[in-house]
Parts: sequence; structure tokens; C-alpha cells
Amino acid sequence: MESKPSEREEEYFARIEFDKRKKLEEEKHRKLKEEDKKRLKELHYMKCPKCGMELIEIDYKGIKVDKCSECEGVWLDAGELEAISRFEKTNLEKLFSVFKK
Ligand SMILES: [Zn+2]
Repeated sequence: MESKPSEREEEYFARIEFDKRKKLEEEKHRKLKEEDKKRLKELHYMKCPKCGMELIEIDYKGIKVDKCSECEGVWLDAGELEAISRFEKTNLEKLFSVFKK
């Protein structure tokens, strides 16, 4: 009989997986030349990481939420997910309502 891993185990394995992949990526980044990094940034800046279309940036209570104009994915900068998680429920609902169709 298979037992479901505890939440703590899931967290542990997700952490291990993330660290492993991050190390691989950091190694790749070290090998990239500065000019290549600059070129990549120019190419991808404010473009959706999934479909490549333009992102629309909305500033709400100091959080810059980027929403894709095509696939409607929502993207956050470093630290913004943590900041949003501290919003009160009413502010969270207001934020969601900005993007409602
Ligand atoms: Zn998209």
C-alpha cells in the first residue's frame, strides 16, 4: 500500500529539486557573456515567459503585477508574492477585480 508523503516531505523534496536546478542554471549563467545577457534581456523584457506576447504592468499598492495580454498568465517580481500573501482579504479581492473581464 502506498502512503501519501507528508506535507513536510513534499516541501523537502521541492526544496532539493529547486536547489539542484538552480545550481545548474547558475553554472550556465556564469558561462554566458555579458553581451549575451544584455541581448537576452532586450529580447525578453516585458514579454510573457510562456507565450512571448506583451505584458501589461499594473501598479497596485506598490506591487507591479504583470499580466499577459494573450494567455492571461500573471507574473510577479522578486518578493512580490510574499508581499501579496500579506494582503488583507479585501485588498486581495480588489487586486483580483482589476483583472476581471
Ligand atoms: Zn502569455
